[in-house]
Amino acid sequence: MTDHAVVISGGGPTGLMLAGELALAGVDVATVERRVNQELASSRARGLHPRTIEMLDQRGIAERFVSQGQKHQVALFPGAVLDSSDLPTRHNYWLGLRQQQFENTLADWVGELPVTFYRGREVTGFAQDGTGVDVTLSDGASLRASYLVGCDGGRSLIRKAAGIDFPGWDPDISYLIFEAEMAEEPVWGILNGEKGIYALGKLEDGKRVGGVVTEQRLEQGDNPALEELRAALVAAYGTDYGVRNVTWLSRFTDAARQAATYREGRVLLAGDAAHIHSPAGGQGLNIGIQDAVNLGWKLAQVVGCTSPESLLDTYQTERHPAAARVLQHTMAITALNRGDDRTNALRKMMSGVMKMDEPHRWYTATMSGLDIRYDLGEGHPLLGHRMPDLDLITANGPLRVFTLLYDARPVLLNLGEPASLDITPWADRVKLIDAGCDDTWVLPVLGEVTAPTVVLIRPDGYVAWVGEQTEPGLSDALSTWFGPPRAM
Ligand SMILES: Cc1cc2nc3c(=O)[nH]c(=O)nc-3n(C[C@H](O)[C@H](O)[C@H](O)COP(=O)(O)OP(=O)(O)OC[C@H]3O[C@@H](n4cnc5c(N)ncnc54)[C@H](O)[C@@H]3O)c2cc1C
Repeated sequence: MTDHAVVISGGGPTGLMLAGELALAGVDVATVERRVNQELASSRARGLHPRTIEMLDQRGIAERFVSQGQKHQVALFPGAVLDSSDLPTRHNYWLGLRQQQFENTLADWVGELPVTFYRGREVTGFAQDGTGVDVTLSDGASLRASYLVGCDGGRSLIRKAAGIDFPGWDPDISYLIFEAEMAEEPVWGILNGEKGIYALGKLEDGKRVGGVVTEQRLEQGDNPALEELRAALVAAYGTDYGVRNVTWLSRFTDAARQAATYREGRVLLAGDAAHIHSPAGGQGLNIGIQDAVNLGWKLAQVVGCTSPESLLDTYQTERHPAAARVLQHTMAITALNRGDDRTNALRKMMSGVMKMDEPHRWYTATMSGLDIRYDLGEGHPLLGHRMPDLDLITANGPLRVFTLLYDARPVLLNLGEPASLDITPWADRVKLIDAGCDDTWVLPVLGEVTAPTVVLIRPDGYVAWVGEQTEPGLSDALSTWFGPPRAM
């Protein structure tokens, strides 16, 4: 039996990010991953959203990803391409990047941190008691941990073994996704067939074709046959374009489900293990990363006995609604992609609405993940929103806010009278920074907000408290989020 503070089942995007976050916070974390290396059997996500890129920026690693991808300053709505260049962020673009490259790069970062990997074996079960979890592996070994996190994908064994319900919507439509050669030049671009979307595009080599086609009937099963791809192409285009040399063919559906709870005792869920939905809008990987960044610091503080276990309840109250909203949006997009006459009329109407200023601002902010506001009560508009990456002037020179979050520790930003705050009882946990800021404070959707004087920023970049130096409440906020004061 080997001990670790936290064991993560699954080293896909969510599990890797969580491992990185925990390691940064000094937690002894181990990841069990079925795959022997990071190679993916199939191509999946193709891009990162602005908020995800910001989160990578908060750890000082965004450039590793940005340098490999292609920036697109547009958000896609069925029937409309919406300019996103006015999003108030340094990363006002979607980044085209294949999941394989994303995982490789993230794994390289995690490899630089003290994370133990058990590769080429599976978690086969667990048993939890009052002090920890015994985790059994497929090679017969056992691990003991204070907490176990299931980042093991949509078919999560951890979710099932914990007896967590996965309510939602059964699939209505299935799609084939493929990469192949075509003997004839196909019709490029997006087409709305009666049942749903068809999209054909050139792959990076400029010759091969990558595509998604809706099937005429709902089919299930992971290993579709070439004949099924041919039939789906013929149904939409009247020809299969001589499709051949298929290097990848897979099926997905529009099933949408979400775990009823994200925690059962000492077992937690994150990423696809907690929520599945259609890839419409390309959000799954992104919200998995955001789950991990929300959970990492909280779990680290609970494991380190800085905070009570109740801090973990905020993971559920913050992230469950965020994913529930994504499920709703993917269902709406899937419905709007149907090509019958009535849906065509609705799509035309809705795409017109989305081009108007306010809906446009709302949609791009929502799809980018930048508008998320955790419900931390009434107060300054910044409360519960992400902290913008403003330019600060400090005694040590100019710096960006995000650079203060590189080590995943909380920051108390004093923009008022220097040296006017004393947080000695939390000084072992919270960085106090005196700074000036001449930037305008602009939030997605809300626009310009009043510049605050004191801002308490959580390690995930969300604002936990805003106020004046003299205002009561700062001590309570510090205790709520970062544990009770140290006895002096
Ligand atoms: C066709 C398609 C297109 C997509 N496009 C997009 C997109 O454009 N944008 C986007 O954001 N998302 C997209 N997604 C979704 C995205 O791929 C997933 O949301 C993302 O991979 C979820 O990451 P995860 O780490 O939570 O789960 P996974 O990626 O499923 O990783 C789970 C990991 O756990 C391992 N594992 C499973 N069981 C065990 C076990 N018992 N023991 C040990 N290890 C285990 C697996 O090997 C795997 O590595 C797409 C998905 C599909 C299918």
